Parts: sequence; C-alpha cells; structure tokens
Amino acid sequence: MDNNIGFNTLLLHGRSIQHNANREILPPVSQVSAYEYESMEELEKVFSHKSMGYAYTRVGNPTVAAFEKRVNELEGGNGAVCCSSGMSAISSSLLAVCKSGDEIIAGRGLYGGTISLFHNLEKLGIHTVFAEDMTVEQIKPLINERTRVIYGEMISNPALKIFDVEAVSSIAHEAGLPLFIDSTTATPFLVRPIDLGADVVIHSTSKYLNGGGNSIGGIIIDSGRFKWDFEKHTALSEFKKFGKMAFTVRLRTDLWENFGGCLSPANAFLNYIGTDTLGLRMERICKNADALAKELSKLPGIEVCYLKLKDHPYHDKVDELLSGYGGGILNFRAGSKERAFKIINSLEYALIASNIGDLRTLVIHPYSTLYINESEEEKNKAGVFEDTVRVSVGIEDARDLIRDFTDAVENST
Ligand SMILES: *Cc1c(COP(=O)(O)O)cnc(C)c1O
Repeated sequence: MDNNIGFNTLLLHGRSIQHNANREILPPVSQVSAYEYESMEELEKVFSHKSMGYAYTRVGNPTVAAFEKRVNELEGGNGAVCCSSGMSAISSSLLAVCKSGDEIIAGRGLYGGTISLFHNLEKLGIHTVFAEDMTVEQIKPLINERTRVIYGEMISNPALKIFDVEAVSSIAHEAGLPLFIDSTTATPFLVRPIDLGADVVIHSTSKYLNGGGNSIGGIIIDSGRFKWDFEKHTALSEFKKFGKMAFTVRLRTDLWENFGGCLSPANAFLNYIGTDTLGLRMERICKNADALAKELSKLPGIEVCYLKLKDHPYHDKVDELLSGYGGGILNFRAGSKERAFKIINSLEYALIASNIGDLRTLVIHPYSTLYINESEEEKNKAGVFEDTVRVSVGIEDARDLIRDFTDAVENST
C-alpha cells in the first residue's frame, strides 16, 4: 500500500481493515462469551497457542481484535491490546513492567485518575517520582537503578503542555528505559508518538477515538521496537524469548488476561464505528476550538489558554509536532470562581459534563470536580485555578458556539 495516503484514507482502507466472513462492511459484533470446537484436540491447540482461534472473550474476541488492529495501524505500532477503560490500560501497562521495589518517573499535571493510580501503586511497593516539567534537565537526575519506565501525556490537560517525546525518549533509551505516552488528548490525527520515539502509546478510547460519548474503553499500543533488558525489567523475565514483543506477550497471555480488564465486543464495535470519523471530527473540532479561543481572548477579564494562541508557551510546537492543529481542549480563567460558575451555568449549548472528546461541546470547573482530591499546589501545577473553566470543543457550528460563550461571558459581569 502507498505509504503517502492521507489520514482518512488510511483510516478507512488501511491494511488493518479486514474482510469479514460474510463480507460485512464492518466487523460483526461477536457478542458471545465462548467459542465452541469440533474436537478437544482443536481446542487444545488453541490453548497451547499452536493454532489461531478464539476460546473465551476475556482472552480474545474478533470484534475487539478488529478495533485493536485498526488503532495499532493508526499509531504505527506493532501490536495492541484493548482494555475495559483508559485507567485499565494505564494500570495494566505499568504493572506489566514494574514490580515491588521499582520506580516510575512521571510528570506532574497528569490526568487526575492517573495521579490517584500512582498513589495506589505505592501500596504495592511501586514508587513514583515526579518531574515538575517533563524536560531532559528535570528527568535525567531522577533516573536511578530502580527506575523502570518514564510516563507522560502527549498533551496535558488542562495545562496543554506538549511532551518533548523526541528528547526524553533518547535519554530514556540511553538509560535502558521505555517511554510510555498517554496520547488521549492528541489522537493519532495530531501526532503519532511512536514516530517521535515513544515505545508504548496509551489511549482512553472513551474520548476522541469513540467520539460519540457512548462507551468506556482503553488501548495499549506497543511499538515493538524497545530492546528490553531482562536483567533490569525482571517483571518481563519469563517472556525473554519473545524479545522486543515481550511486553505485549506478557499483557496478552498473562497480566491483562488475569486482571480481567477486557473490552466488551459491543463497546469495541461502538469504538470501531466512532473511529471511522476521527479525522473529520478532529479537523472540525480543532477549527472550532481555534475560532472560539480567538474570540474569547478578545473579551475583557478572560484569560484564554489554547495551543494555537501566540502567547501560549508551546505555540511554536503546533506546526512542528501537531500538523498545525491545536487540539480540541481550551480553557480560560474568568477572574473568580463565582464568575466561572455563572458563565458555565448560563451556556446554552455547552453541556456541563466531566468527559472530553464528545461531538457535543462540554464544560467543567476542574478545580471543584476533577481535581477535588489534589492539593492546591498539585492543582496549580496542573494548570487548574479557582477560576479555570475547561472546554472540550465539539462539532457544533463555530458561530453558534462563539455567540453562546460570548453571551455567557458578557452577562456574567
Ligand atoms: C479520561 C482519561 C483517562 C482515563 O480513561 P477512562 O477511559 O476514563 O478510564 C486517562 N488519561 C487521559 C488523558 C484521559 O483524558
């Protein structure tokens, strides 16, 4: 296949798009728990991995596999595993490479659920050290003989800091460490972290990949390029014979399988059809977000944070790394919590909801919701202040969104 085809063509006609038994255009929903076999010999071969086949949906399912192959191709990976949620994908991927006594290096300002997960991992003896900013200067001194993985988000939310994957992956690889990137907010439409040097990419498919806000899911994509050092990554030592694929084989046949966080076939199907329009939606969402950010920044007393705005500290990375798109999330400071609430409450189209990546524009006051359990310092480091409003921009008509937000802001003084 032509490697120069565009994103939408790859999405609809890539190598990963399979032909189905009855030539269905979409993968049929294989809504069963188990698969039957003609003989015990055949089932034995499936269990001993001597022949391909499905036995039990927690371990493998053709609808789920169709979605895995598709996202794997979009991200340029070499194998993917779907999970019941984004959090399941993050926890499974970290537990596949870390044991008690091991350390993770992560950035501050991560998704709130991920920060809570790091607190949970402490109780299992896995310690996380945090870098204020995920720069080479700050990460390098944190690497020691116990470090097993470096973890960050491609575009943090709501602070909108872009992870320097290229520079950090090179120091990580020098130290024999893999770089895991949560690319939920970026999506493969904006950037493919594996092309920049990431080793494992994670998505909460509940957001932009599904796009319609109708099912929770997650996925882990392995570049298959990282050279595991089995003396260091002893969590993977039993999988040494699989070499660069040891991580995915451990997930597939051991950790993920036993933790039981599989994606349901029905949700895999909803994610699959949602992903059909990822390119179209992202293009529209990014254009809307850009237009809305520009108009909002003209309003008095409103301080807007959006990657495409010239005063954003990461503005110069947009063309270089994100194909010129600024993503679907913007946030603004309204001056006070009272004013932020007043604006949010008077919006007509934007829905008050804790999700992102929906077709519909969603708004929230992260300080009093998503970050309610973080300290004041942690909130501020994540770009969350008492007067911050986060907006996940949808596909509505830009002029209606602009009017809705402008009216809400003007009526709030
Ligand atoms: C939503 C989200 C998650 C968690 O995903 P769930 O599907 O809700 O479990 C992880 N990381 C980021 C960046 C997210 O936005």
